[in-house]
Amino acid sequence: MHSEFDLITRFLTPASPQAGAGVSLGVGDDCTLLSPTPGQRLAVSVDTSVVDVHFPAGAPAEAIGHRALAVSLSDLAAMGAHSRWCLMSLTLPTADDTDWLEDFARGFHALCDATGTALVGGDTTQGELAIGVTVMGEVSPALSLTRDGARPGDLLAVTGALGGGAGGLALWQQGERDLGHPLLARYLLPQPRLAAGEALAGLATAAIDISDGLLADLKHLLASSGVGAELEAASLPLAEGLVEALGETRARDAALSGGDDYELLVSLPAEHLDEARKRLAASDLALSIIGHISASPGITGIAEAVRGGWQHFSGQADDGVTP
Ligand SMILES: [Mg+2]
Repeated sequence: MHSEFDLITRFLTPASPQAGAGVSLGVGDDCTLLSPTPGQRLAVSVDTSVVDVHFPAGAPAEAIGHRALAVSLSDLAAMGAHSRWCLMSLTLPTADDTDWLEDFARGFHALCDATGTALVGGDTTQGELAIGVTVMGEVSPALSLTRDGARPGDLLAVTGALGGGAGGLALWQQGERDLGHPLLARYLLPQPRLAAGEALAGLATAAIDISDGLLADLKHLLASSGVGAELEAASLPLAEGLVEALGETRARDAALSGGDDYELLVSLPAEHLDEARKRLAASDLALSIIGHISASPGITGIAEAVRGGWQHFSGQADDGVTP
């Protein structure tokens, strides 16, 4: 097996020169020293992706690298934070499969570059394939999006489309392997809504990313805010190709309770809707109204709302490390 140092320097060091911004001391010492922008708050979150729990063993290595970072970045997006740095803890069955490692690193670094995120440290160990990614972003104290600000009368809105993660997983289990398929791409190559999160900061009253399913994550937001919601079932934006792949009933179920969508669910006052849509149009992203916040607790408007959220790939519940 290669030494840990070899692995870190070969595959885990920052690829792009601008990635050094804010890094006072990079990989190679006991710690990395970072210099956050004065006056900004540091938003920090960690997620671990385990083979056959969060992604299938046969997924392309490049997609596994992309996805491990994307799911962590999604939490920064949900806070309205601007992504700056990340750390990776990589557990590998063997360090000898350099082709796999190169593909994995390419997927990871490409998303780092696309989001302005610098990989500033890592750790490798031997074991069942698992990738832990800690992300750090910056957010202005006045603009951070939290889960507790939803107020009765606010609109409930989601970015993009729903059900694609669950639809892609279903297709994968049926043997579909073409990542050009829009649903499979939604499942294996999710796009963290960082630009949308920053755009909605100051307009939305509360936000959460939809990683466990719309209903499950809506419940988290409602509980934090001490409010309820009335959903409009007919307004759920379904992912492209979802009805064709799953049929109408399963498509609606995937949109409500499927996981791994990584869209943002926000509450916002009606008077902010036009401005929010204008800002999101810059990233070519739709903002769909799916209901509104009510004073009385609970979720009404959808019979299926009583059902629980998504259980991950193996069927095992995942409470996650991220708050
Ligand atoms: Mg989250």
